[in-house]
Amino acid sequence: MTEAEFKEQAKLCGIELSDKQLASFAVYASLLAEWNEKMNLTAITEAPEVYEKHFLDCLVPAKKFSFEGKSLLDLGSGAGFPGMAIAIAFPNCKVSLLDSTEKKFSFLKEVKEKLGLENVSFCLGRAEEFTQGRGKYDVVTARGFAALRVFVEVGAPLAKVGGTLIALKGGKADEELAEAKGIISKTSLTLSDRLSLTLPCGEKREVLYFKKKEKTPGRFPRSWGEIKNHKI
Ligand code: SAH
Repeated sequence: MTEAEFKEQAKLCGIELSDKQLASFAVYASLLAEWNEKMNLTAITEAPEVYEKHFLDCLVPAKKFSFEGKSLLDLGSGAGFPGMAIAIAFPNCKVSLLDSTEKKFSFLKEVKEKLGLENVSFCLGRAEEFTQGRGKYDVVTARGFAALRVFVEVGAPLAKVGGTLIALKGGKADEELAEAKGIISKTSLTLSDRLSLTLPCGEKREVLYFKKKEKTPGRFPRSWGEIKNHKI
């Protein structure tokens, strides 16, 4: 996907990217390729693929959700997806990127600095131990972080009451939804919206939106071992 096609596709998601924002995405793509030679950040490094399978992929949730003015926590952000891409596209969205791997933050910090992004901050640590973030965020996102049931258990406590969880998934969300049914109801979430789409390259994606109706019971999240091994 060319930069011009990316701009066009972003528009279809309701996002009008300025020349400055497009330039930011270009710098992000080149930093990603450069740093990927020193550390394993992504399997995708060619610009056309980066634009489609990273940048556009991260922005499609905007088709059904307004990020404008929100506080957002991105769990297991890795090389900044979707959080950093959303921060570039929505300068008024306050984005916190959380990951347990310190190495990746040196890359993310350079991206933030080079792009002059004032709306990005970093949280180093394990998502299930991030107690200081409890109940604080309008929206909690994740792509490639964990199975849906794990994301729900870890992410629900971190959202505000009335807030939203957004899971960016590949084409097989139904199986994961079935597996997550118990924990979705125990954490007072409801599946409020859903977006099924095919990227121009032909790959399928599903975006799941959950609303948090009530405060999450204090026993969630359980320890990582329990979450992983004992399905609710
Ligand atoms: N969101 C990125 C990266 C996905 S890889 C993308 O879509 O490309 C998963 C990331 O989650 C890794 O960077 C890993 O370090 C992080 N991660 C896995 N379990 C975690 C946990 N319990 N707490 C915080 N980060 C975690």
